[in-house]
Amino acid sequence: MRTVIVGAGLVGLTTAASLRLIGHEVTVLEHAPRVRADGAGIGLWPNALREFDLLGIGERVRRMGEPVDAWFFDAAGNPQRAEEYGPEAYRFLMVPRPELTDLLASTAGRNRIRLGAHVTGFTERDEQVLVHLADVPAGAERPEGTMVTLGGARTRGGYTRVAEGRTMWWIAQFEAGELVGGKRDRALLRARQVAEDGWHDELLAMIAATPEEAILENQVVCVPELPRWTTGRVALIGDAAHGLSPHIAAGGTLGIEDAGVLRAELTGESDPATALARYGKARRDRFAQVRAHADAVEHAQGAAESARRYAAFSHWMLSTAPSTY
Ligand SMILES: Cc1cc2nc3c(=O)[nH]c(=O)nc-3n(C[C@H](O)[C@H](O)[C@H](O)COP(=O)(O)OP(=O)(O)OC[C@H]3O[C@@H](n4cnc5c(N)ncnc54)[C@H](O)[C@@H]3O)c2cc1C
Repeated sequence: MRTVIVGAGLVGLTTAASLRLIGHEVTVLEHAPRVRADGAGIGLWPNALREFDLLGIGERVRRMGEPVDAWFFDAAGNPQRAEEYGPEAYRFLMVPRPELTDLLASTAGRNRIRLGAHVTGFTERDEQVLVHLADVPAGAERPEGTMVTLGGARTRGGYTRVAEGRTMWWIAQFEAGELVGGKRDRALLRARQVAEDGWHDELLAMIAATPEEAILENQVVCVPELPRWTTGRVALIGDAAHGLSPHIAAGGTLGIEDAGVLRAELTGESDPATALARYGKARRDRFAQVRAHADAVEHAQGAAESARRYAAFSHWMLSTAPSTY
């Protein structure tokens, strides 16, 4: 079967590799002039790593990353954990995004990726899909890190090791209001609200020392619940289907799950429409739960409740992950 994947993000690339594994002839269309390797690190959970194991790259991904045993902290620096969920609900692998993207692009097959290919739409027919393209191609840190501090004014932030000798920091704020000043000033403004005196001074120092051009700042855009994810021969995967606020830090992991479910449904199924409908149903059902958990985490009052709700989410995600391997 010939399959076109729009977007060489980490989910698109994983899907390409997963479908090649079951014999699809894949083409990945990416509108950027290069495969984007933006961002510092991404936390991957065991459900994503299982798909990578199947692709034969699980060990390499584990070697490039750092296992994280995450703690939440309140604004005074007191550690928070909901003990009823056990340690596995807090353990994931932090992986440097550039290296992961690079590995996934190689695994998907670089000659399968067409860069500068901006998809403007598609026409679906009984036996094929026509994809429409635009004409123009388009310092003194704690070794264990701080991962997530739930601060004042609806800020969150922290830092963590991404790989040997490399650390990433992040700051987020709900309803951030008008943005003024440069990226570093804006990050510092929020970081000062993340923590009370003393706790996180090293984060402030880290931000102050980061060159402006190395700071990635994005407004988070959430994808609303969609009435369907598939048509007869077209399926939405990853953030295109379920982009959620990054505070659950698992959109990529769950997108990789999408790739595994899609692969499993297409395996041995001669009618793509049947396979895609099953995929859409399974994933929309799962994401009804993900949305409820994400909402609960976002609206938790205080650090202890956030930590408990986050653990409830990760415990649920791991204990209900589909077995497609
Ligand atoms: C701050 C932050 C932290 C996060 N932390 C984590 C984490 O720790 N763990 C985790 O699992 N997830 C995390 N996530 C979520 C994760 O990053 C995303 O869910 C994941 O990267 C989505 O991958 P994707 O391939 O679906 O989409 P993307 O990475 O957005 O890729 C889409 C690709 O499609 C291309 N494209 C778009 N439109 C077109 C078009 N018309 N034609 C051709 N190409 C097109 C784009 O250029 C892009 O390359 C985080 C997200 C954020 C914002």
